[in-house]
Amino acid sequence: APALVLFRRDLRLADHPALSAATETGAPVLPVYILDDETPGRWRMGGASRWWLHQSLRSLGADLEARGSRLVLRRGETERVLRDLIEETGARTIFFTRGYEPYQRALEERLKLSLEARGVSLRRFGGQILVEPENLANLAGAPFRVFTPFFRALSQRGEPSTPLPAPQKLAAPDSWPRSDALASWSLEPTKPDWARGIRAAWRPGETAARKRLAQFIETTLASYRTRRDEPGIDGTSRLSPHLAFGEIGPRQIWHAVQAAAEAAGDHAAADAYLREVGWREFSYHLLFHFPHLPEAPFRPEFEAFPWRDDETALEAWQRGRTGYPIVDAGMRQLWQTGWMHNRVRMIVASFLIKDLLLPWQTGADWFWDTLVDADLANNAASWQWVAGSGADAAPYFRIFNPVLQGEKFDARGDYVRAFVPELAKLPASLIHKPWTASAAALRDAGVTLGETWPHPIVDHVAARARALTAFASLKK
Ligand code: FAD
Repeated sequence: APALVLFRRDLRLADHPALSAATETGAPVLPVYILDDETPGRWRMGGASRWWLHQSLRSLGADLEARGSRLVLRRGETERVLRDLIEETGARTIFFTRGYEPYQRALEERLKLSLEARGVSLRRFGGQILVEPENLANLAGAPFRVFTPFFRALSQRGEPSTPLPAPQKLAAPDSWPRSDALASWSLEPTKPDWARGIRAAWRPGETAARKRLAQFIETTLASYRTRRDEPGIDGTSRLSPHLAFGEIGPRQIWHAVQAAAEAAGDHAAADAYLREVGWREFSYHLLFHFPHLPEAPFRPEFEAFPWRDDETALEAWQRGRTGYPIVDAGMRQLWQTGWMHNRVRMIVASFLIKDLLLPWQTGADWFWDTLVDADLANNAASWQWVAGSGADAAPYFRIFNPVLQGEKFDARGDYVRAFVPELAKLPASLIHKPWTASAAALRDAGVTLGETWPHPIVDHVAARARALTAFASLKK
């Protein structure tokens, strides 16, 4: 009987403990991916992620074929599809990487009950995070709620184990079950083709992920600590979508970065980078222990927050037409490329939550649909961090000034120029606040306020005061 390997957000062959264990049984291996839009409920994969998934599955399929195997594609509710596959193939063991999202955990529980009752054994493995959430607790034995002690505890566990190599060859079953054609899933947009910019910006797949890591280490890691906050340069690793789909695992990143640090005799850069990978671990830890994180505020007093309801403002934010150049550049980078620089994610999130007083959940929803790296743990934890409602969050009263943020982190205006061509001719001194420019300066740059470029949709000073009043109402 074949060993069925159920791929999920672990679309790689190297450092894949479930796949390696299946291979070691010596039985034929049956790699399967199930497109299940029922199990996640409202967290069904968004548009940009579906584009990525398409490319990633194609890449994984080709890598499997190069090893004498295949990727069987099926669509439907996972438990139902697995039952069909068990019946069709006689598989008796299912190998998979565990998930941490509430719906994945519920699915795993369901599968355990129903499949084990039929004599099918489930073998569950880690690999998506460095330390399983059950294995880290504070001194009181409770889950961590604060990053610094969490990260200290994580670091004290020492090196993660050495990444596993990809299996050289996978024994094929005598006959293959039917597989859907990838194209029949329509994961890629047709008309309108909104993925053009995404396609130009990214190369999904395990090989590309590994290349990106190597390239980051060679060219960017050394300056990461000092320049990771500048959105106008290529100063971060951009591994997030690869991580979100599991094309690369955190242990591989950890070991590669540490090896580079050893070779360079410089640990500061590696430490700064691995600390951010640590934030990802922390998000997963929070999601696991506080599964309501994507929907409800971590701090219950925020349930009573007097959010506004304003479709026009929400749409201006989504389309990158708020009149604040750094905000609009970020929202357009997101729409065009499926990704946004971390510093700008914080700025646009603060603007939505504080300047516009719109619920963080509406922002998280938009990100979910438009990010190629959409990740339930990171997205929810980060939005709540900005909102001030999260565990170890930025305090609500710390409100970003979008002009000062732009001037500080995009001092030359390169980032705004790249995504907001309407303002490209403005000098750096005006590009983050075009409404202060003289008539002559605007004319020289070809900008007409209210026509070629919107007036700011809110006055930041007034909006800040409004936000603080709203926040003060909570504490009564
Ligand atoms: P690098 O700086 O190169 O970091 C390396 C890796 O560390 C990242 O790929 C990521 O996995 C992890 N990481 C870095 N920063 C963070 C962070 N603050 N929190 C958690 N993990 C981090 N990240 C996602 O992967 N998916 C999301 O859906 C997501 N939504 C976000 C929403 C908001 C409002 C904010 C403020 C941040 C969000 N982030 C999210 C975190 C962060 O912005 C991205 O992980 C990062 O920008 C990805 O780019 P990179 O790979 O070049 O990061």
